[in-house]
Amino acid sequence: VIQLFIPLNFLGFVYREIRRALTDIENMFGLLRRPATVQDREGATELAVTEGRIEFDGVQFHYHSNRSILNSLSLTIEPGHRVALVGSSGAGKSTIGRLLFRFYDPQAGEIRIDGQCIGEVTQQSLRRAIGVVPQDTVLFNDSILNNIRYGRPDASDEEVWRAIRMAHLDDFIQSLPERELTQVGERGLKVSGGEKQRIAIARVLLKDPPILLFDEATSALDSHAEQAILQAMREVSRNRTSIVIAHRLSTIVDADKIVVLQNGRVVEEGTHPRLLAAEGVYADLWRTQLHEEE
Ligand code: ADP
Ligand code: MG
Repeated sequence: VIQLFIPLNFLGFVYREIRRALTDIENMFGLLRRPATVQDREGATELAVTEGRIEFDGVQFHYHSNRSILNSLSLTIEPGHRVALVGSSGAGKSTIGRLLFRFYDPQAGEIRIDGQCIGEVTQQSLRRAIGVVPQDTVLFNDSILNNIRYGRPDASDEEVWRAIRMAHLDDFIQSLPERELTQVGERGLKVSGGEKQRIAIARVLLKDPPILLFDEATSALDSHAEQAILQAMREVSRNRTSIVIAHRLSTIVDADKIVVLQNGRVVEEGTHPRLLAAEGVYADLWRTQLHEEE
């Protein structure tokens, strides 16, 4: 992993070329981190998502054996719930997302979706079941319409437009010089962070997976853009299990459950009002962020 990571970062142009050539956003998400060791087991079955329950059961994980990242982490996410992962930088939040996507296998413990261990199912069926809205969405040098259709290449124009409306992108597209045929990406129109995120949401809507993973990045947005995205995120999350890696606590106060991570462990979990009342780690984080915003 390290061997791959350093030269790619070092040779920025190579990295950009690879980014451009990539045809799959989830590969993008994992490119720099996925070791070759994760392979389908012989006789791996297809994951069948019936309800969307996710369980981390005693998960032990390290990238390098001298430093443990997740320490017997246990966590249950109920079907259809929206669960937020919070904790300071380096707490292991993104690692949980990478393990769920099976970029790595844990050294101990098990991760299950609807009772099926994710190590026993094909990677293809696993990744088909999970939609990712990453922090930094990659746009291809193509029309905005095709950039969205990329969520499901065989989608009809009708379906793409429905996703555009649900992601609240229609006003933006109407304002473009050539509307949906406007070229975007590095060689086309530059698109703001908030609009990119809505494009990612539209892609996920087309993909229509039962499980969603957001690496929320609304902190860089102004509050108007943030509200629009939060609204779109809530709509996409309806009736699906979703995990939100939250940077700004104000965006997840209505989550069904907030999970507070510290040193690779769950130290608290509950709803926002309950965690505030508990006067623990979460209440401290909350007060710190309120203070920073003032
Ligand atoms: P968070 O998302 O909560 O900020 P991460 O899950 O990204 O935290 O990282 C948890 C810890 O694991 C951090 O200390 C980070 O430096 C380390 N880490 C993340 N990715 C790698 C990697 N590929 N190799 C080695 N260490 C890593
Ligand atoms: Mg992270």
